[in-house]
This record gives sequence, structure tokens and C-alpha cells, in this order.
Amino acid sequence: MKGKVYLIGAGPGDASLITLKGLQCIKEADVIVYDRLASDSLLEEAKENCEFIYVGKKSKDHTKTQDEINEIIYKEALSGKIVARLKGGDPYVFGRGGEEGEYLVERNIPFETVPGVTSSIGGLAYAGIPITHRDYASSFHVITGHLKDESEELNWEALASLRGTLVFLMGVSNLKRICDRLMENGKDEDTPVAIVNWATTSYQKVVEGNLSNIYEKAIKEKITPPSLIVVGQVVKLRKKLNFFEEKLLFGKAIVVTRTKAQKKEFVNELKKLGATAYEFPTIEIDEISPNLELDSAIENIDKYTHILLTSVNGANIFFKKLFSLGYDARKLGEVKIGAIGPKTGKTIEKYGVRPDFIPEEHVSEALIKDLKKVLTEKDKVLVPRAKNARPYLVREISKICDVDEVKTYNTIKGINKAEKLIKFLKDKKDFYLTFTSPSTFNNFVEILGDDSSDILNRGKILSIGPITSNTIREKGYEVYGEAEEYTVDGLIELLVKEGEKQ
Ligand code: SAH
Repeated sequence: MKGKVYLIGAGPGDASLITLKGLQCIKEADVIVYDRLASDSLLEEAKENCEFIYVGKKSKDHTKTQDEINEIIYKEALSGKIVARLKGGDPYVFGRGGEEGEYLVERNIPFETVPGVTSSIGGLAYAGIPITHRDYASSFHVITGHLKDESEELNWEALASLRGTLVFLMGVSNLKRICDRLMENGKDEDTPVAIVNWATTSYQKVVEGNLSNIYEKAIKEKITPPSLIVVGQVVKLRKKLNFFEEKLLFGKAIVVTRTKAQKKEFVNELKKLGATAYEFPTIEIDEISPNLELDSAIENIDKYTHILLTSVNGANIFFKKLFSLGYDARKLGEVKIGAIGPKTGKTIEKYGVRPDFIPEEHVSEALIKDLKKVLTEKDKVLVPRAKNARPYLVREISKICDVDEVKTYNTIKGINKAEKLIKFLKDKKDFYLTFTSPSTFNNFVEILGDDSSDILNRGKILSIGPITSNTIREKGYEVYGEAEEYTVDGLIELLVKEGEKQ
């Protein structure tokens, strides 16, 4: 049985610029064959057992030739797999997508193309440059700047005479030649030029000038590939239309240490604000399974008057278990439910139950204060929660009434590449480290070992609340900022204030 190949344009860098159809194909794929320019976070959308094959230029073993790439895609499809061939930008704009398509069609492999946002248009847009404009350019031309030798020379005379916008791709190493040829052939040396490096990503950097000075400027700014070179009057509009670099957290690097399952929301919000979110999960949730104690607590739930859920993970595990035992929210009957904070509350609501109380301040101490008002010695409380949670809550409740603590999960240290983070932060002068619990901090220190103190001293440490801050201070580090509301939204608010300072 033959599979099928989807030749997909991943867009210029910002992962959210992929098309709906492209994303759908990624989710269905058995194997994804991808390049350097396709955003890594798109790979996270793949199904669980999807395979990944990297064929980009900087691949570990060696650079794959186009023939080898064609053959890899073909073989994978021949074995019956759904192949997503993911390429940066649009697959047919200097992406050699046409050649890959031909190769497959000649071998009778079913194939479809999913167009993408090309960097030559979308990349410019993120730099505030519209590729056409009624007052400045009524055509545009996308040109390869990859000129191997003189025999491959472009028709410079024709290009220089065009009045539309010229966009050169793969042109950084030939920048001087491109500018010289255009001027030699009559293009005005004052024609505006911009170089857009890593367009649409939080590393985006733009250098502006004109045909006669852009080369010097690019050298000074150490511009490297991938970059777009855009020549034309539309460059002037950047002053007005530069929405992306004006975002509050643009250019700021923020390390996110919370669990894989919970980081997404935080990371997405940071990206929306223009920040570079470096994902470094230090915790993984390991559900205790089988868990006879939890099964029995649920079977006999009417023994209890209250259930307290002290984290999103704890709430999810509790309700999933309730459902997997064949029950639903009705099983809880009159039992009152308490949540530690709004996020846990929202999680509980997803299962059709509205929490009866959420303390104003989202820590166990505040929950106890609230509980003291509602609990009497006749009550019986169930607390399903993490194995290594602080004893405080259960100890205090036991002073009022009966309480059963049921351990439902372990938080274990995330497996992470310390070297990659160290490399990422090496040249960064201004970066933030965010910690959302004492264990994210402790695990961070453990994972980084000897390198942790340098990073913790150089970075600005942001903590979600007082308990986490105490842990950090006890270890001898300064807390740069603490969230007013002890939630991820509180951390975002802190960062927004940082952005507003500048
Ligand atoms: N198919 C791609 C282009 C592939 S050729 C597309 O449609 O965008 C590779 C060249 O594209 C790079 O050398 C660079 O000139 C340009 N490019 C791609 N992504 C870019 C980005 N995010 N920022 C700047 N240039 C980019």
C-alpha cells in the first residue's frame, strides 16, 4: 500500500503562520521530513508516535543532497506512511518543492501541495514593509541572490530598470555584488534597502539603509543568513507599520521552567507579547497508577463532606479517575469542592463542577483560613494531591476534623539538555528565569549542576509567589520580581510591567 506525501509550507518562522490545512496534515502524519527553516514548535503538533527526519543543511552527519532527500520522502511514502514534508515559507518559492513533487509523481506516489506564507512577503510584513503600495510600488519581484558564478548572472539591466519592489532571497553573501550591479545598471544609489534577518521570529533584526551604504551597515551589524534583502521605496513605510518589533516584550528572552503539560499557555502568551520563550521544563508529572487508595476514596465519596484540589494536575487526575471508574460529576453529590486558585477552579469546571470556594490568595495558608470558617469537627475532608506536597495543609485540617490525604502523582525531575540552555544564554545580557513552584527552582538547580549559579546570578529571577521566593532566597539568590497574583497571569503581568519600563 502506498502512502501519501503532503508538501507543506510551514510559513516564515512564527509557527502560528502555518495554514489550517498544513497543521491538519502535520497532525495526521506518520513521519515528518523537515528543514532548518521550519519552526520546531510545529513538530510538537505531531501525533504521539510520529517519526521525525531532519534533512536541513546543518544536519549532524552531513548535508543531504536533494537526490537523497527525494529518495527519503519517496521510500517513506512507498512503505505506506503519510509523509509531511515540511519546508520553510512556501514550498514552491526557492524551496525545490517542484523537484520533490516531480520525483514523486514520476513514481506514482500520491501527493498534494499545501502552500505557505512565503518569507518574501510575510517576512517583510513583520518588518513593517508592505511588498506593494499604491504610492510606491505596483509590482514586486522575488529573486535568488544565490549566484554561484558569473555564468549564472541575473539580467541586472532588466532588474535595475524595474520600479517595483525587489526582494532577494539567499543573498547575504552576495549583498555587495547585488547592490553594485543594481547601481552600475542605473538604479539610484539612494534607493532604500532593508535587510530582514530571522523575520517573524523573536530574533528578528532589521538593518536599514540605501544601495550605497547597506553593505557597510550589514557588516557592522554582523548580519547572517537567513535574511531577506528588500530594495525599493516601500522600505520607508517601516517607520509607520512596524507592529512586530514594537511589541512589549520583543527581543526579551524568558526561560519557562514549568511542566510540559502546563507551559503551553504561558509560552503562547509570551510569544504574543513578542518575547523569546525558551522552554526548559524541569518537572514531569508521573501519575500513581494503579492507585487503589484513590479508587476506594472515589467509590466511597459520600463519606466525605469536602474535597480539596490543590493543583491543576491534581484536579485533572482526580476527575479522570472518577470518569474512568464509570462515574461523572453526579457521583460527587453534595460534597463541597475547594480549589486552591482560579486555574485549578477552571480545570474543575471543565468537568461540570463549580468549586464551592477558592481563597483570595492562592496558597495553602489562605485556603486554611477559609476552611477554618467552614469546617466543623463533624466534617471529613479528602485531599488528593502530589506525593511530595508540603504537609502543612493536611496537618492544619487534621486539627479541625478528619482528613484523608491520597497521593495521586509524583513530580519528577524533567529530562533536559542543560548544554543547550547554557549555549542559548551565553551571550544574553538581559534575560528572565521564571519559577512557578519551589520544585521548578530546585530541579533547575539540580539539572544545571555547577552551571546553575552563574545563570541564576546573571538572569533576573521571577517567582510566582512567596513560597517559591523563599526557596530561592534560602539558596542565596535574589528574587527580582514576585507576582502579585500567584498565578502564571500574575507572572505575565510582572513581565508586562518590565516591558513598559523601557
Ligand atoms: N521557501 C522559502 C524560501 C526558501 S530559500 C520561502 O518561501 O520563504 C531560503 C531563503 O529564504 C533564506 O536564505 C532567506 O533569504 C529566506 N528566508 C526564509 N525564511 C526567512 C526568515 N525567517 N527570515 C529571513 N529570511 C528568510
